[in-house]
Amino acid sequence: MNGQSGIDYPAIVDAVPAIVFSADADIDAPWHFVSDWVEPILGFTVAEWLGTAGIWRRQLHPDDRDAVIEAETAEVVNVRQLLAQAQRAGTTAPLGDGSGTSHLDYRMLHKDGHVVWIRDSSVLVPGPDGALRWHGVMMDISDQKETERQLERQSAQQAAVARLGELALGGQPISELLGEACLMATEALGIAAAAASQLSDDGQHLEVRAACGWPEDERPEHHAIAPGGLVARTLQSGRPVLVQNWQQEDSLAPSAVLAAVGISSSIAARIEGPKRPWGVLGVFSRTADAFGQRDVNFVAAMASILSDAIKRQDSESAMQHRALHDPLTGLPNRVLFADRLEQALERLRRNQRSLAALLFIDVDHFKQVNDSLGHAAGDELLVGVATRLREAVRPMDTVARFGGDEFGLLLEEISSERVAIATAERIAAGFARPFVLEAGSQFVTASIGIALADGQQHAQALLADADASMYRAKQRGRARYDLFDDDLRMRALARGRTENELRRAIEYRELRLVYQPVVDLKDETVASVEALLRWDHPQRGVVLPSEFIPVAEESGMIERIGEWVLQEALRDLAQWEQLVPDRSPLRVGINISVQQLLNPRFPDTVSEAIESAGIDPQLIALELDESVLRDEADLIRGKLRVLKRCGVILAVDDYGTGDSSLRQLAALPIDTLKIDRSFVSALGTLDAAGPIAHAVIATGSALGLKVIGTGAETREQVEELRALGCAAAQGYYYSRPISPGKIGELLSSGGSLRRTPS
Ligand code: C2E
Ligand code: MG
Repeated sequence: MNGQSGIDYPAIVDAVPAIVFSADADIDAPWHFVSDWVEPILGFTVAEWLGTAGIWRRQLHPDDRDAVIEAETAEVVNVRQLLAQAQRAGTTAPLGDGSGTSHLDYRMLHKDGHVVWIRDSSVLVPGPDGALRWHGVMMDISDQKETERQLERQSAQQAAVARLGELALGGQPISELLGEACLMATEALGIAAAAASQLSDDGQHLEVRAACGWPEDERPEHHAIAPGGLVARTLQSGRPVLVQNWQQEDSLAPSAVLAAVGISSSIAARIEGPKRPWGVLGVFSRTADAFGQRDVNFVAAMASILSDAIKRQDSESAMQHRALHDPLTGLPNRVLFADRLEQALERLRRNQRSLAALLFIDVDHFKQVNDSLGHAAGDELLVGVATRLREAVRPMDTVARFGGDEFGLLLEEISSERVAIATAERIAAGFARPFVLEAGSQFVTASIGIALADGQQHAQALLADADASMYRAKQRGRARYDLFDDDLRMRALARGRTENELRRAIEYRELRLVYQPVVDLKDETVASVEALLRWDHPQRGVVLPSEFIPVAEESGMIERIGEWVLQEALRDLAQWEQLVPDRSPLRVGINISVQQLLNPRFPDTVSEAIESAGIDPQLIALELDESVLRDEADLIRGKLRVLKRCGVILAVDDYGTGDSSLRQLAALPIDTLKIDRSFVSALGTLDAAGPIAHAVIATGSALGLKVIGTGAETREQVEELRALGCAAAQGYYYSRPISPGKIGELLSSGGSLRRTPS
């Protein structure tokens, strides 16, 4: 090497582990000298380097090239100016004391393409020919730079771990914490993507809870855990799993999800949950070998912070649960019960259609069990009581333990006090079975106090009412229930009596039918009749349907009564036909309760009755209350279709009161609308309901239905009904409900109900 360009360099040059060089200020001119170290550092032989013009510029890293050349060129310009000034002044240029020297760190490309960090220290001096030359040393500082980069990455990672820990301690919600973890991981690792996913309850799926850097449309929200894959391995082993190169990985099943977005390397760490692994934190890079052991530790640290946070929040919610529940039975405690009661009252105030009931339940003689059999047996009994109570109510009802042997029950959305009473009876029935304890079977009873709410009461007052009636039940001999309100108690008693008496009424032939004519408005003759029930009560005299039909409906007796009505009406109809055979046949309207309609056997009952009476089914009109149509419309529609196939006429009763929509109505196989009495009575008056009545009647006509006005009491109302397009009218104006015999007489005399206007 000595003797390159005729310059004699001491042998010591070769001892310096750096590229010692001498080059022209003109960057692209061939270099004058380069030491042997050019080969170990940049991969080129001395001959290759010196023989290739512009090789230095070419091997500069493209990202650094412009800046480095700019800096060197500026230095050359500067030195040339200094030299020119010195020449003019006849002095020597002050080179060497800062001017003309350059220290630069930049990247070059090794001959094989890898990056080499160079620290270039050189000085510009005039050469033997007077032209400027660079003399300098290029040191390989790649290791130092790598160490620096590692240190930076490490401190970024430490900062990320510290920050995440801080957020976790600050009580940040888990969902946000997961998002932060993903963001911090991608930043601190300088990688493409990160994701935190939760194991599904069945342990078969992973649900992505947070992700960062994932292309939106490639991001799976939910995917099955492949056996032998990255997730399965991470969850099983509990140790972070590092994959340096997915293309060469053969111990793990390949991941389609990662392949789809071109991931080459990854780290996955398990996130622990309170009882089992919660999920996985994964970081992903599109370059292979992107991660080192430190990165693995970092991801594990992030996962561990997330694990702690998840476990802590779980134990906090467990604490909250403990604060609101009874530890022995797991039932809500008094605090939670009071809260639910407040909410129930609030709902009642908004929607006043239903009631709520509060039941206080006290186990009779509990103290004796406790004292004689011991506390453990007492506890066992209380747990058993809790179970029986739960069994006696609907899932939506709240059962609570107030402490000791006191329990509370909240029933929402009930239609009447009967539901509360029925529940109390179910509870009593549940207590009829013995409680099986370790110490042997034990029979106990309960005293129950009931208070009803319609939204007007205060929670505290209700609790006190229920408590008071429970004490009254105890005083009256235990093993019973008591209703708070006197009025309610009387009503409940009366209902109970009616129910018992009604049971006998059919047997004792106390029920009968009366019929009210429906008049054809064309000629004012009777077109049909409506069958209406009457109960001849031995003590109370005639009882009207409004008093006993609801009781019959609630007790289920309506089905038997309804069947009786159907048969009785058909028998009367057959008799009228015999009486006046040449008259055009009369139609009979029969009122049907929703319970009857819902019985799957109902259509059969109807067709059997029609067949055995030998009546044309067209002569039977079943009247259904409008409110029936509104609820469970699909179910009802199906029922009506089946009925329609029997050939009967279907009528909507009390139309206009049930806020059913036109659309609902049009979808049902209905033939007739009976306009509610309240609208008809508004006709011919200045009442605001007048225009509504017009609209209601117009609706029916628009749907092509036969419209009957009911409850017509005056000539004016009849005339208006006619003017509005009603086909028929029913009401006291023409006739009150009368006996079947009177209907027979009416038909025999021609059936006219025309009244001369007075
Ligand atoms: P509804 O089907 O709307 O029957 C018409 C009711 O209005 C009858 O009362 C009738 O007497 C009364 N009414 C008729 N015209 C006038 C009038 O001009 N002015 C006034 N103020 N009232 C009039 P009733 O007989 O007390 O029946 C009441 C309800 O009981 C019926 O209402 C019906 O829903 C139900 N009902 C009656 N019989 C039966 C039955 O056999 N089965 C079922 N499920 N329900 C029945
Ligand atoms: Mg009716």
